[in-house]
This record gives sequence, C-alpha cells and structure tokens, in this order.
Amino acid sequence: MNYQNIINEIEDEIQVYFKEGKVADYIPALAHINPNQFAMSIKLLDGTTYNVGNTQTKFSIQSISKVFTFTLALQLYGKSLYKRVGHEPSGDPFNSLVQLEYENGIPRNPFINAGAIVTTDTLLSKYQDKSFDYILDFIRTTANDFTINYNKEVYSSELEHGFLNMALINMMKSYKNINNDLEKVIQTYFKQCSIEMNTEQLCHSMLFLANHGVNPINNKILINEAKAKRINSLMLTCGHYDASGDFAYKVGLPGKSGVGGGIVAIVPGKMSICVYSPKLNKQGNSLIGTKALELFTTKTGLSIF
Ligand code: GLU
Repeated sequence: MNYQNIINEIEDEIQVYFKEGKVADYIPALAHINPNQFAMSIKLLDGTTYNVGNTQTKFSIQSISKVFTFTLALQLYGKSLYKRVGHEPSGDPFNSLVQLEYENGIPRNPFINAGAIVTTDTLLSKYQDKSFDYILDFIRTTANDFTINYNKEVYSSELEHGFLNMALINMMKSYKNINNDLEKVIQTYFKQCSIEMNTEQLCHSMLFLANHGVNPINNKILINEAKAKRINSLMLTCGHYDASGDFAYKVGLPGKSGVGGGIVAIVPGKMSICVYSPKLNKQGNSLIGTKALELFTTKTGLSIF
C-alpha cells in the first residue's frame, strides 16, 4: 500500500473542513495557536515513517499524556488500580464533575480528567517529588528522544485557569480518593498535559501499543502483552470522552485525543498514527484529526473491524 500517496490525498481532502471547529480557549495559552495547521505521521513497526504537513511542529499533548500515566500506574499497581479508577466509558464531557457525586469519587476511567488526576496521585504515592521527572523520563524513553520537555507557558496558564480541575480534585479528596497533597498532584497533572511533542515523536512513543507492549525499534519491553491489550481497549472505548462511540464508529481504531489538537491511533500489529490540527469539535477532539483518521481507515481498510 502506498501510504505516502494516501496521506497526501487526505491532506487535500481535509482542506474543506478548516472552516469548522475552534481551538481550545479555556486554556489561554492555547487560544492564540494558529488554527490552520495540519500534520499527519505514520510509523510502521519496522520504523518506516510517512509524514505530511507540519510534522515537526510541537504542540502540547494534553490528554494524550493520560495514556502514559495510565501505563505507568497499571504497571505499578496492576488490577488493584481499578479500586480507585474504573474502566467504563463515561458518556460525560472530559472535565465533568457530575458522575463523581453518584459514584463516590471514583472516576469512570483513566482517560477523563478526574481519572487521570487519580492515576497521577497513585504515581505521587510512589515517586513523590520525583513523579513528574519519572513520567517525563518514561515518555522520553518510549519516544527514544531525550529532548522532549514541557511548555512552561502552557503549564502556568493551566495552573492559573484550572478551576474545574481543582474542583475535581477537591471533590475526589472529599471521597478520600486522593492521597497526596492536592497542589502537588494538580501541578504534576498540568505539567504532564503541557508536555510538547510533534506527530513523529508521538508516533514513535506509542508504537509499543501496536506491538504487544514492546517497542519494535529497540525491542524494549514497556509493558506486558496483557496490559497492552487493556490499554488499547480503553483507548477504543474511552479515548475520546463523550465522543468515544463516535470515534470508534467512524474510525474503528484505539485512539486518544488531547485538547491541544493531537490524536494518536493504533493499528494493532501494524503501525501507530498521529494527527495534529488544533481546531476542536464540541467534545474537545481535533475535528480535522478525526476526519483524517476516518479517511485513512476508509481508504486503507485498516480498522480493527
Ligand atoms: N489539561 C487539560 C485539562 O485538564 C487536558 C484536557 C484534554 O486534553 O482533554 O483540561
């Protein structure tokens, strides 16, 4: 299959959608990002990479970071992690408070904000003040790129305006589902969200999920096969907040989006794909990114179904 031709075609075909959607402005540092950007990278298990658009432009990975922190927490705690965070789709927006009230402060899954704040809290219980360094180091290892870092402006902007996330963490604390200092947990969470990567780096970093937990390029085992299966399952069912069903229906791949405009998708046994375009649909997922992935699985037949 000529992947380069396919992604070139996709770049042409998505142009008509640039009128739609809007960038995330509830984080002021993201509000002034050029909305008309598009990048798409594909990385096959043998390392062959195909790129189109601004694939070297870095953007904040935002909720895509939740895949990494969940991987680390699952590695550390195994099934007992599910006492603190569930594995069911939420059907509610990414930052919703409502469900926490009727489920005793246990978030539905690790890919909504409340769930990711809990997985970060579990990492703090083990690594304390070294938690963020540990997360960053893991991401650098998965990407085999030690230049990756977080964006301080985005971090400060989230910290100053993260009132809803503060409400989430306080509510979970009231249900005794946060064990560490609230400020430290939320700072670590915002830092991981503000990590910057480009589509090529993200593709590389997620390739282990297309290969049963092993990075196929350097044969590093990042998680065992059974857990890699669970992470992919959760990406399929919960990776796009209250649009997870829509993404599964249209794209048919495990994926995870972030309000920075990135989406990572996995074709098990074959490749990882990353798309970037900062305008979002109303559920907070990249509008053009979703269209591009839908076109990709339609043109290639490479969905999991
Ligand atoms: N840092 C963002 C927040 O907590 C992440 C949300 C997202 O990417 O969906 O609001």
